[in-house]
Amino acid sequence: MDKNQILKEFSSDPDKYYNVKLFQEQGFVRKSCSKCGRFFWTLDADRTLCPDDGTDTYSFIGEPPTSKRFDYTQAWKQVEEFFVKNNHTSVSRYPVVCRWRDDLYFTIASIVDFQRIMGSKVVFEFPANPLVVPQTCLRFKDLENVGVTGRHFSSFCMIGQHSVPNNQGYWKDECVDLDYRLLTDQFGIKKEEVVFVEDVWAGGGSFGPSLEYFVRGLELGNAVFTEFQGELGQHTTLDQRVIDMGAGLERFAWITMGTPTAYDCCFGPINEKLYNTIGIDSDSEVLRKYFTEIAKEIDHYDDLNEVRRLAIKNAGITDSQLTKMITPMEGMYLIADHLRTLIFAITDGALPSNVGGGYNLRMMLRRINATISKLNLKLDIDDLIDSHIDYLKDTYPELDEKREDVKQILKIESTRYEESKVHMKKKAEKIREKGTPTVDELITFYESDGITPEYLKEVNAIEEVPSSFYSKLSDLHQSEKKKAITELPLEQLPETETLFYKDDPMEFEAKVIKVFDDQVVLDKTSFYARGGGQEPDHGSIAGFEVVDVDKHANIIVHKLKGGIPNEGDTVQCEVDITRRSNITKNHTSTHIINTSARSVLGSWVWQHSAFKDDDHARLDITHHSSLNDEQVKQIEDAANKMIKDNYPVKIEYFDRGTAEQQYGFRIYQGGVVPVKSVRIVSIEDKDIEACGGTHVKKTGDIELIKITKTKRIQDGVVRLEFVSGPNAFTYVKEKEEESKKNEQQAIAKQQLEKQREENKDKAREKIPVFIEKVLAGESLESEEINNKGKLCFISSGNYDDYFHQNFGKKLVAKDDSAAFCGIFEAGPTIRVIVFAGEKSGVNAGDIAKEIASILGGSGGGDTKFAQGGGKDTSKKDAAIQKAKSMILG
Ligand SMILES: [Zn+2]
Ligand SMILES: [Zn+2]
Repeated sequence: MDKNQILKEFSSDPDKYYNVKLFQEQGFVRKSCSKCGRFFWTLDADRTLCPDDGTDTYSFIGEPPTSKRFDYTQAWKQVEEFFVKNNHTSVSRYPVVCRWRDDLYFTIASIVDFQRIMGSKVVFEFPANPLVVPQTCLRFKDLENVGVTGRHFSSFCMIGQHSVPNNQGYWKDECVDLDYRLLTDQFGIKKEEVVFVEDVWAGGGSFGPSLEYFVRGLELGNAVFTEFQGELGQHTTLDQRVIDMGAGLERFAWITMGTPTAYDCCFGPINEKLYNTIGIDSDSEVLRKYFTEIAKEIDHYDDLNEVRRLAIKNAGITDSQLTKMITPMEGMYLIADHLRTLIFAITDGALPSNVGGGYNLRMMLRRINATISKLNLKLDIDDLIDSHIDYLKDTYPELDEKREDVKQILKIESTRYEESKVHMKKKAEKIREKGTPTVDELITFYESDGITPEYLKEVNAIEEVPSSFYSKLSDLHQSEKKKAITELPLEQLPETETLFYKDDPMEFEAKVIKVFDDQVVLDKTSFYARGGGQEPDHGSIAGFEVVDVDKHANIIVHKLKGGIPNEGDTVQCEVDITRRSNITKNHTSTHIINTSARSVLGSWVWQHSAFKDDDHARLDITHHSSLNDEQVKQIEDAANKMIKDNYPVKIEYFDRGTAEQQYGFRIYQGGVVPVKSVRIVSIEDKDIEACGGTHVKKTGDIELIKITKTKRIQDGVVRLEFVSGPNAFTYVKEKEEESKKNEQQAIAKQQLEKQREENKDKAREKIPVFIEKVLAGESLESEEINNKGKLCFISSGNYDDYFHQNFGKKLVAKDDSAAFCGIFEAGPTIRVIVFAGEKSGVNAGDIAKEIASILGGSGGGDTKFAQGGGKDTSKKDAAIQKAKSMILG
């Protein structure tokens, strides 16, 4: 939808869309900016320019328009006090990790808290009406501006003021009146300073007018009135109109403090620490001038570096001031901002990684580390985390609880980065030599080596990060998520009654509603359909085998083998009870292992995905490193303790909003639940999840859980494979038998080895005796040696390499008319060794070559000594016959 078109339409009828009661009561006049033409409302009859173009823009820096000064946390107290006084409920912030939407990784606006997706529609669910919320929002698209512009943050607090117009809530007139009184009464800003600018908002199929409010060029908030849907011209009024007023808390603090940047009044005592480390005075006239220039120019240029250059010139900054003050200040603000964002994200269960939203977090920590090393700062990150949390904990007490977790994760991640630097540097050099890589190559570098394009840019291996990189990367990951579902013409069919959520009979009668080839739809079923990582039930319908069950919207389709009943038949159905019982045990075990892993490893553990079949199951959890044996044992022990304690597994239905308020967003371990009534499965207070699967009645029913294997399957995700119930006992038994068998085999092997060694020792002792006998002209047939005078041949398996080498060598050394040929097995090959005395008439090389070629290998040497061999054991007899005849004649 074209926003400009809508704005034009709305501004052509201001009385209908913008002229609120307050404007009439107070005598606001509507004006059109003499520079850009935009319409605005002001009490100052002489004003000709809109706030963006005005002469007063950013004049609050150094000269705030309020008599009182409020920093970040104090400013929220003022806002909260005002709205609560005016009948609003103050709601705690929602997590910054947006677990209730599968189209967003992070919460990007306060209104997102209350949006739930039902099919393709967005619905609003407010826990109170009207309400106000200090919602921390994460936005990463302006990362390059953070620390530089004085007002861009990677996370900020959006003051959300939300109302649904009904007997409790209000609409435009009261909203604008409240916002105006917040500025004037509560913050003491002069009436003439407040300017409202006409604008519109459009998104997700709905739109409406909005009034942005400014004080001295700084946009403090935007009151959006979402009231229409459809295309402009054919639009209709929404059933559920919503007020979405979002204001920047950081800006409220800034306007009352008048500091050079918004950063100066929003990070609490952490700034002082950083100022001292760098050794600069934050209260300098130079900084005030410089950041005022930046603030004024930022919206007029696309290139940030151009804005910087201009501000340096206009503020009269010298080169030395730039390197000694401005650059370190920018770095310091970046560190404080990025660290604050990481604290919120990790507290809410996100992990830095290469996947999904974790990518932005890793990027930020790497920017912190790079800044620290670039500026050569001596900083203790733990100490900075403490400063942030100590400052924020009054407003956000949950940060205090996760303090140590945040420190641990950042430490692991920083160490990992340091370790990967050498590898990344080498790789970057190669990339630089090869020339500019394609986007696909960049994706490979990133996915296989964790090398970000930003890093490559930093080390000058590439010039620019291609704009298609991130979209292509996210497309790749997106398409993995989608599952191909065969479309069936099910539109006309009624919803299947799900007996597995009721009495769950394992034998039941049902009516055949529809048949497609080998698939059948019943009026009701106890067959659990594949869903939430749980594999489907098997069994029989009308005597035919059920091999698969799938759910298409609310209709359950059974796939049969061997035949199919007729439409209209009433059929006997039977669920395979053993399979169901095994799957149910495995399913409930995922809940137990998930919570056990969290208690052993840390609060960042979430279910990433799960798979539950009859004889095996797996749970993928979010965790930063591979698990060691000790951790696996602790998790398994904790899980089996829960089984031993035999807790009841309770299933209750809640209204979604109630469930979220009561249990928090931890309930969404298995992802978003697109229904209004949520099925909550709880094991005491140890594990509470929204889940549609089948569960045991008591944890003791599972009997035993064994973790069979763990593996780090991707960055930030660890897989635990496990078995439970009867399969766990079978597994234990098999393991025992296996280790017993291994032990026996090892003993047998040892004995055999010992026997062989003894034989060989005996043989070795015999060498001098044999030689003496051969040279004396005796026949040695009885000792497995064929000899014709002094020419000897051995093919017995009782003599090893050592024997052959030594016997042959010594024999020939004693008598140069003697010769020796031995054939024996050495591992997979059959070897031949030949020694021939000068006067023996035997050619060692010829024999070795000939025999080796029979065995399919090769041989070599000279007339006196040669050896060789081959792997064709089937030719062993032929080789023996040939060798024997060649040496003995
Ligand atoms: Zn203007
Ligand atoms: Zn479950």
